Amino acid sequence: MASGRTRITTNLDLNRQGRQCGYLKVPHSTNRSGWGSLLVPIGCLSNGSGPTVLLTGGNHGDEYEGPLAMFDILASLDLEAVRGRVVVMPALNFPALMTGTRLSPLDGRNMNRAFPGRWNGTITEMLAHYVHEYLLPPADAVIDIHSGGSSMIFAPSVVAHHLDDPRLMRDTLQAALAFGAPFAMLLRELDDEGMLDTAVESQGKLFLSTEIGGGAFVTPQSTRLARDGVLRVLQHLGVVDQSFQVAEADSPSRVVETPAEGGFLMAERSGLYQPTVEVGEAVEAGQTLGCLHSPDEPGAAPAEVAAAIGGYLMTRPGRGWVNRGDTVVVLAQEAVTSVS
Ligand code: CA
Repeated sequence: MASGRTRITTNLDLNRQGRQCGYLKVPHSTNRSGWGSLLVPIGCLSNGSGPTVLLTGGNHGDEYEGPLAMFDILASLDLEAVRGRVVVMPALNFPALMTGTRLSPLDGRNMNRAFPGRWNGTITEMLAHYVHEYLLPPADAVIDIHSGGSSMIFAPSVVAHHLDDPRLMRDTLQAALAFGAPFAMLLRELDDEGMLDTAVESQGKLFLSTEIGGGAFVTPQSTRLARDGVLRVLQHLGVVDQSFQVAEADSPSRVVETPAEGGFLMAERSGLYQPTVEVGEAVEAGQTLGCLHSPDEPGAAPAEVAAAIGGYLMTRPGRGWVNRGDTVVVLAQEAVTSVS
């Protein structure tokens, strides 16, 4: 159960009205800084009464759309347009963002497998614990912006989970559609233990995530979608006034879901991946999506990677080299889950 103890302090007062930007101070004693601290950026815009929404980016340090959207929103969102409170953590795994790696270079931990964390654990565990104990309880909703990172590239998608509570499922889907990504993807995680998603949903709160681009690079389109999508959801939830100018979505989202069988394809051999289909394209069962060349066998025919089912290609490898056991393909199909 919740421990009120934490080793983390902050120079923000989340109960104060107004715009505040500062840091979470995590004790971090190192060779070059004996009594040093890690300062993790955080901001809060609070204006009058209304819901509290927590925005997070940089859960994985090689996914840049989230941090960019969060810093942009902190710098540009008018306090007068806020109706309630928007708490922003642009870089949840800040040390990982600084090295451009998925996992923290300080303890090797994946932030999205560290929840609910430990107050006296490693840096990643302490941060997860602080978020879990201090930032989630007052939040009505959480938006956590992900992209594919260095190992994957995704069709631009807002992501929601299949939930057992029908009311929460309906509210989540409506918020997902408000985001305005080309795809709204419904899924059940392969392994949900330790995820921020699970921590939020188990408290009965609205949670949205995204998979926008990837490959450890950003594009004007991916950064714009992350920022504007978050702002559209904030307006949908009523925490940002409609008077604040946000671009409309290019088109309604295509609602898709990953089927129980054939949606995830794993590489069964290592090799250099040659993609032949781009993410977002419709494919048929049996269609070749790419192939793997083995440097051990120059001149040999490459191993084909083919779609097990028809649907939309949601993911392809984000780097050329693929190892046996890597997920190389995610396929999703038109959702049968009702949205209304
Ligand atoms: Ca991620």
